[in-house]
Amino acid sequence: MFKYLRIAILLVILATVAEEAWLAHSHAVSWSRPLQVAIYPINGDGSAVADAYLRGLQPRAFKSIEDFFADEARRRGLDIHRPVEIALAPIVASLPPQPPRDGSAIENLLWGLKIRYWAWRHDGVPGMRPQARLFVLYFDPATHDALPHSVGSERGMIGLVNAFATPAMAGSNAVVAAHELLHTLGATDKYDLASDQPVFPDGYAEPARAPRLPQQFAEIMAGRIPVSESDAEIPATLGACVIGDATAREIGWMKP
Ligand SMILES: [Zn+2]
Repeated sequence: MFKYLRIAILLVILATVAEEAWLAHSHAVSWSRPLQVAIYPINGDGSAVADAYLRGLQPRAFKSIEDFFADEARRRGLDIHRPVEIALAPIVASLPPQPPRDGSAIENLLWGLKIRYWAWRHDGVPGMRPQARLFVLYFDPATHDALPHSVGSERGMIGLVNAFATPAMAGSNAVVAAHELLHTLGATDKYDLASDQPVFPDGYAEPARAPRLPQQFAEIMAGRIPVSESDAEIPATLGACVIGDATAREIGWMKP
């Protein structure tokens, strides 16, 4: 009896999660209204530096992401005045479950359920029902040379972003956040996973540019500016990034 009850409850939870993901997604990509995005700051390493940085974050700290989407929509001649609206959510005092490294399909699926459950418990934003949720973990740059990989999942439209707790890195933190937000909208990576080099032509901001290298801008889903066949630079701000044609197609900004 209890066994069936447990299975029934589990099925209800699964159905709810699936439905919510489907609803959020089907609304998100129509672009008829601004996509509602909430950014949740989190102290990633428990440091005093990250704590001070979180408390100093201004409500407009991520305006550059709104501007980036608006500028790119305008550049493409799209009739979308404000593609994305971002709200800074209150600080979340809990750490999200980390994605498995090179996880199996089952491990990834389980993490997907865990992170959605965790997000559901921690995603309250006064006066807003976010469609996409980005949880940004801040780390003290003095004790962290490199950060774990950030992730963005289309299912549930959740991103986990690892960021440096210093104003000097605010621009590149926004680049990573915009990249993961685009993942939640269905965009795919456009760089070579082994070398980190942008893939031609989809990972190039200006694939028709002659000479092809060096490029001046980064395609946001390639994440880097190709300067030679073997070198690419990390853009300092979203001002050095564009949404390329392949990404535009994936997020419903261009006909397939
Ligand atoms: Zn990516």
